[in-house]
Amino acid sequence: MDAGVEPGVDKVILTHAHLDHSLMAPGKEVYATLPTLALAKELWLDAKSLNPDLPWEATDVQKTLNSSFRVPYGRPFKVGDATVTLFNAGHVLGSAMVLVECEGKRLLYTGDLGTSSFLLDHWSKEVPQADVLVTESSYLCKDRPSAKKEWSRLLYFLKQRLREGPVLIAANAVGKVQEVIKFLMNYKEQIGLNAVIVEGMGFRATKIYDEMIEYLKESEVTAWLNGNRRRLTDFVTFPSSLRERLDMARPGTAVVAPSGSLSGGMSVWWALKGVPYVLLGHVFEPASSLLAGGEVTLKDPLGNEGVVRPPELHLQISRHATRQELLQFISLTKAKEVYLVHGDEECRSEAERMGFHNLKDGEELTF
Ligand SMILES: [Zn+2]
Ligand SMILES: [Zn+2]
Repeated sequence: MDAGVEPGVDKVILTHAHLDHSLMAPGKEVYATLPTLALAKELWLDAKSLNPDLPWEATDVQKTLNSSFRVPYGRPFKVGDATVTLFNAGHVLGSAMVLVECEGKRLLYTGDLGTSSFLLDHWSKEVPQADVLVTESSYLCKDRPSAKKEWSRLLYFLKQRLREGPVLIAANAVGKVQEVIKFLMNYKEQIGLNAVIVEGMGFRATKIYDEMIEYLKESEVTAWLNGNRRRLTDFVTFPSSLRERLDMARPGTAVVAPSGSLSGGMSVWWALKGVPYVLLGHVFEPASSLLAGGEVTLKDPLGNEGVVRPPELHLQISRHATRQELLQFISLTKAKEVYLVHGDEECRSEAERMGFHNLKDGEELTF
C-alpha cells in the first residue's frame, strides 16, 4: 500500500496522489480511485521533469495509467487472496483508506487522514472497523489552532492588504490550492477581491477537482445537480504570459501558486517581485528558513535569482487530521493493534505511552 520511496514492489494500492505516497508507483500494477490516478499523472510528469534520475521513464506514466485498476469507494475487489475496499479519507480529492480482509482478519491502512474541508466530505461519515490499524500520525503530538481561526486570520489579512496591491498565497498544488480558491470564492465581497490568478500545477489539479464532482462533498454535488455550482476554474485565471501576470498585478488580485514551501514554481517568481505572501501549514526548506526570520536567495523557474523576504503571515492550515480527530478515528475503528507511520521522531515515545506502536521506514510486519 503506497509507494513513496520504495521501488521494490510490483503491485501498489495507492491511497492518494501526493508524491510521498506515489512517487515510485509508475511501472507497477496500480489500484486507485480515478481522481488519484488523474492527479498522480500530473505530479509524476512534473516530478520526472524536475528529476530525470528517477528510476522510471516518462513513458511509463501513460502505460501505468492504461494498465491500472480504477476503484471507486466502497466496492470490494480482489488482490491475491485478499479482499480490498477503499473508503473516503477526506485528505485530498479521491484520497482513500484501504481495508484489507484476509482469512477472517481485517487490516486498515489510512494513508493520510483528512480534516474538515470546504470541498471534500469528512471521513467520519463512514469509518470501517479493523483488527489492526496502520495510520498516519502527523499531528498526534502537535496541537494547531482551529481551522476557523486560521481562515479568519487570512480573511482579515487579505481585507487589509488587497487594497494596497496583489497578495500571494503559496500553497500545495493538490489539496490546499483548491481549498484556498473555494475560500476566496466564499469571501470575495468581504475582502475586496477582483481577480484570482492560479499558477501551474495548482490550476491543472483544480481542473481535475472540477471534472470529478462525484468525489466532492455532498453540497457541491447538490449544487451541481441544481445547475448552480460555480466551477473553481471559472472563478480564476490561468495566465498564459508574463505580460498577463504583470497586467493583473494590481490591488484586489490574489495569486494562488505552488509550491507551498517556495522550493520552486511561480510562487518564487511572485515573491521575487516583492509581492507580500502568506504560507499555509507545515513547510519545508527554503520556507522554514524564511519563517525563522531570514532572507533567502531563491531562483524562479525563469532563472531569475534574488532575495526573498520572510512571509507576512504563516497559517496552520493543514489537510491532515488534528490530534483530536486522529484519536477519535482510532477509537472508532475499534482496532486492537495500532501502528503509526508518517509522524515526527519526537512523537515516538509519547505514542508508545498511549499504547501505539511506531513503524520505521522499511520495517516489515507480519500479521
Ligand atoms: Zn498527502
Ligand atoms: Zn503524506
